[in-house]
Amino acid sequence: MKIHTLVLGVLDTNTYIVEADDALIVVDPADEPDKILAKASEIGKPIGCVLLTHGHFDHCNAAKRLQTCGAKVLMSKTDYEMIENGLDLAEFCDVKFNKFVPDEFIGEGQIELCGVKIDVLATPGHTAGSLTYVMGDNIFSGDVIFYLGVGRTDLPTGDGNAIIRSLKKLFSLDGVVYTGHGRATTMKFEREHSVYVKSNE
Ligand SMILES: [Zn+2]
Repeated sequence: MKIHTLVLGVLDTNTYIVEADDALIVVDPADEPDKILAKASEIGKPIGCVLLTHGHFDHCNAAKRLQTCGAKVLMSKTDYEMIENGLDLAEFCDVKFNKFVPDEFIGEGQIELCGVKIDVLATPGHTAGSLTYVMGDNIFSGDVIFYLGVGRTDLPTGDGNAIIRSLKKLFSLDGVVYTGHGRATTMKFEREHSVYVKSNE
């Protein structure tokens, strides 16, 4: 499975473009849609769908534009409600938020998009509706887990106890972790080096 990474927007968010056979899946279209669309045409496949890990503006500010171009946008209902309550943090960062309406709400379970089987895990803590997407041994964690770190839990709907439970859940997986910001890592490395969850817990 070929995965392309673009670093976009004011908070240097990772936007991932996953190549399926006939289409592309974009995880967290951060911003700067022209760059995402240019990459897609360079690859030569249409963007079939957009998966959002959570509702912070820096992970979804290009969703509207990609949707206009024909992509289907999926996210958790809980985090869409967070957006509707004005808690997407765009105003806080002085960024104009491009409002959108998701095509489908998803939660924990298995889905299939563009011919790719995807395990959706509910991983609350950074936001209440944060989702992690697992495609084979590729794990898209949004802002739940970072290289040697975890996401902030002091923002609206954040929860410090919930993120520890989510980390434990993620540590039962193996694979490459594509994080929301910064470098990718592996679940094995994070499990072995985590200062948040001890391996014997
Ligand atoms: Zn976030």
